[in-house]
Amino acid sequence: MTSEEFREFGHAVVDWIADYRAGVADLPVRGEIRPGRLWEQLPDRLPEEGESPAALLADLDRVIVPALAHWQHPAFFGYFPANSSLASVLGDLLSSGLGVQGISWTTAPASTELEQYLLDRLAEELGLPAEFTFPGGGGGVIQDSASSAVLVTLLAALHRDSLGAWRSSGLTGGEVVYGSTETHSSLAKAVRVAGLGHDGLRLVPVDPVTLAMRPDELAEAVAEDVAAGRRPVLVCATVGTTGTGAIDPLTEIAAICREHGIWLHVDGAWAGVAALCPELRALFPGVAEADSFCTNAHKWLMTAFDCSLYWTRHPGVLVDALSILPEYLRNAAGESRAVVEYRDWQIPLGRRFRALKLWAVLRWFGLRGLREHLRRHVALAAELADLVRSDDRFTLVTEPSFALVCLRAHTGNGAAADDRRTERLLASVNKTGQAFLSHTAVDGRPVIRVAIGGVTTESRHVLELWRLLREEFDRA
Ligand code: PLP
Repeated sequence: MTSEEFREFGHAVVDWIADYRAGVADLPVRGEIRPGRLWEQLPDRLPEEGESPAALLADLDRVIVPALAHWQHPAFFGYFPANSSLASVLGDLLSSGLGVQGISWTTAPASTELEQYLLDRLAEELGLPAEFTFPGGGGGVIQDSASSAVLVTLLAALHRDSLGAWRSSGLTGGEVVYGSTETHSSLAKAVRVAGLGHDGLRLVPVDPVTLAMRPDELAEAVAEDVAAGRRPVLVCATVGTTGTGAIDPLTEIAAICREHGIWLHVDGAWAGVAALCPELRALFPGVAEADSFCTNAHKWLMTAFDCSLYWTRHPGVLVDALSILPEYLRNAAGESRAVVEYRDWQIPLGRRFRALKLWAVLRWFGLRGLREHLRRHVALAAELADLVRSDDRFTLVTEPSFALVCLRAHTGNGAAADDRRTERLLASVNKTGQAFLSHTAVDGRPVIRVAIGGVTTESRHVLELWRLLREEFDRA
C-alpha cells in the first residue's frame, strides 16, 4: 500500500469508525451470538491474491460487527468500562503510523521521554508522592495491563533482599504473597507465573459489610508466616475491587507492610484514576505509603486499551529484577545511565508508543474534561443507587463505590428466591440487547453489577436501564 493508497483508504476507514461510533447506540449492545457463527461466514481458505481494502470494510459490516459485544455502546454497563475515546483512537493510529519500537531509549527517544513526562505530570495530578516521580528517585511507566503491573511488582519484590539489592540466589520456596478474597485474579496468576505454589498466596478475609481486606487478619497471617520461617514479600491491596468496588484500608495495611519490610502494591486498575478529583482521592488515603501503584487509563480514563499506568518508588529494584543485557542491545546512551530503558521495567522487549494515545486524550479533554467525565459517572451511580433504594423489589448489596452499583432482586421470599430472580433478571435484561450488565457473587450469592462509565453514557441511558430492570423484574 503506497502512501497515496493509504490516504484514500485511510479516509474510508476513519469514516467507517466515525459511522460506527455515531450509530453504535442503535445496535443491540450484545446480540445473541452463538459460538461458531463467525467461522461459518468466513471462506475456507485465506485469499491467495490481495484484495481491495473495501472488501475488508464489507467484512466488518457483514461478519464482525454482528458478532461483537459493543463496549463503546452507552448502555454497556458490564465489567468495568473500557473507555476508548475517539481522541485516543487517533493517538493510537498515530502511534501505529509512526511504527517505532521502544526497545531502548536509543531506538525511540521521544517515545521514552514523552512517557516519562506524562507519568511524572500525572503522578502530581493524582496526588502521588514525589518519590513516585523520576526527579524524586522513583518513576512511572506504561504497562500493557494491570496484570503485567502486578507481575513485574511481584518479581521485583521476590528478588530484592533486605537491603533492596538483587538476590541472585533465587527463590527458597518460602515466599508468601497476600491479597484479599476480593483481590483480582491477576494476583493469583502472577503468583503462578512466578513459580510460587499454592502456599505462596494467602487470601485474607474481608469485612462482611465493606468487603475490604481486614488488616487484623492480614497482621495475623503475616505473623504466623514469619513465625513459621516463611518470607512475606508482597501485599496487593485494592482501591476499587472488581466485584463490588471495595477499598482496602491502605493506611493500616501500609503499617503492617512497613513493620515487616513487605512491598505494598496498590491495585487501582479501575478506580485509581478517580484520584484526579481531590474529593474522590480522599476516599482512599494511604496510597502515598505504597511501594507501587497502578491504574488503568484504558478503563475509566478515556484511553484505548492498552494503557496501564504504573509507578514505583523502587525502579532500581524493578530494573535489577528484569534487566538482562545481551550484546545486541548495548548502546552508548543506555551504558551512560543518563536515560531510562523501559524494556527493563516490563516483561516483553518490544514496546508500542503508548504514550501518544494518552497524550492525545490529555490534550483533547484537558484535566478539567477528564475530571468532569469521572464526576459525571459517580453522580449517575448515586442517582441509580437512590432509585434502587426507593424500590423494595431491589436491594443494594453494598453502598455504591465510585461509579459502580451492585444490586440484587428482592422478592421478599427469602435468599434462594432472590437469587433465582436475580439471575433471571440479569439474563433477561441482557437478552433485550438494550443494555448489558455483568455479575459477581458476594457470600456465594449472585449480584448484578452496573458499572457506569461509558464515554457517551448519560443520565438518560441510566434511567432507561432502570426502566428495563423494573420491567424485566416482572418477567424474570
Ligand atoms: N485489577 C482490578 C481491580 C481489575 O478490576 C482488573 C480488571 O478488571 C485488573 C486488575 C486486570 O486488569 P488488566 O486487564 O489491565 O490486566
